[in-house]
Amino acid sequence: QAKAQHRGSSQYFSSAMGTDARERFKLLKGLRAGFEENRLFVVYQPQVELESGRSIGAEALLRWRTEEGNFVPPDQFIPLAEKSGLIISIGEFVLRTACHQVKRMLELGYPDFRMCVNVSLAQFRHPDFIATLQRALRDIGINGHNLELEITESMAMEDTELVMHVLAEIKRCGITVAIDDFGTGFSSLSHLRQLDVDRLKIDRAFVREAQSSTAGSTIAQMVINLGRGLGLTVIAEGIEGEEQRQQLLALGCHEGQGYLFARPMAADQLEQWMEQQTQPG
Ligand code: C2E
Ligand code: MG
Ligand code: MG
Ligand code: MG
Repeated sequence: QAKAQHRGSSQYFSSAMGTDARERFKLLKGLRAGFEENRLFVVYQPQVELESGRSIGAEALLRWRTEEGNFVPPDQFIPLAEKSGLIISIGEFVLRTACHQVKRMLELGYPDFRMCVNVSLAQFRHPDFIATLQRALRDIGINGHNLELEITESMAMEDTELVMHVLAEIKRCGITVAIDDFGTGFSSLSHLRQLDVDRLKIDRAFVREAQSSTAGSTIAQMVINLGRGLGLTVIAEGIEGEEQRQQLLALGCHEGQGYLFARPMAADQLEQWMEQQTQPG
């Protein structure tokens, strides 16, 4: 009844946007508390060389388990963290956790293990970003060789001057850079050519499309050729089946990541997984 009475005003207050804002605020409060109370953690999804199947490293992916035990997907909470500025401290936490895991992988005898860490625009733009990177490497005692940063294509196309400057600083630390979700932004090719990056990471959407239609496979082929033409290593994300693996390999893709090889997993599982991969047979 109250609802009926307030129908007029409810247009203002319970419009989709109003409800969303309240929900987002609640979620952000939960995220903040979750971060402070150590309910955020990092999982690792292995990456492999497509041809040999050899494991080359992993991508660090953030997880949030709420107090009630539910998982909130990063696609939901990362944007909130970005808008609120919380991403700066959360991002540093992911970076340092990933570096500690690199240290562990080095100790276990994987000198070339490559750990990929996703970076948000707000982090990338932050004046202390390079100092934060250097501090993490120094404190934890690893070098840039084992670290790769993933920036999205749209970020890479954002602010040319700044992006080129930050990329140069990252390279000076010996850290490599991948363009994530590549193909989704389809920005200027001349701009892409100017960027000093090492790897293109083909978005899952193209990997999926490549198998389902001729047009899809043509586009995947073009994206792979583009990366190869620029002298970059091309990695495909979201490979779920053996046919996909073979198709991408035939199209010239170098590396892959996806459920076919392994799901994102906890640190100790990653260590076991790596050990299994290197055993004969
Ligand atoms: P992304 O960087 O493109 O990460 C790849 C996503 O694809 C991950 O989702 C991964 O779990 C998922 N994936 C991998 N293989 C497969 C597959 O074979 N099939 C399917 N269906 N999915 C697969 P996740 O972990 O949910 O992360 C989503 C996005 O959230 C990431 O996309 C990234 O943009 C963001 N994200 C995650 N962790 C971080 C972080 O620490 N910092 C920042 N800034 N963003 C993060
Ligand atoms: Mg990524
Ligand atoms: Mg991606
Ligand atoms: Mg993605």
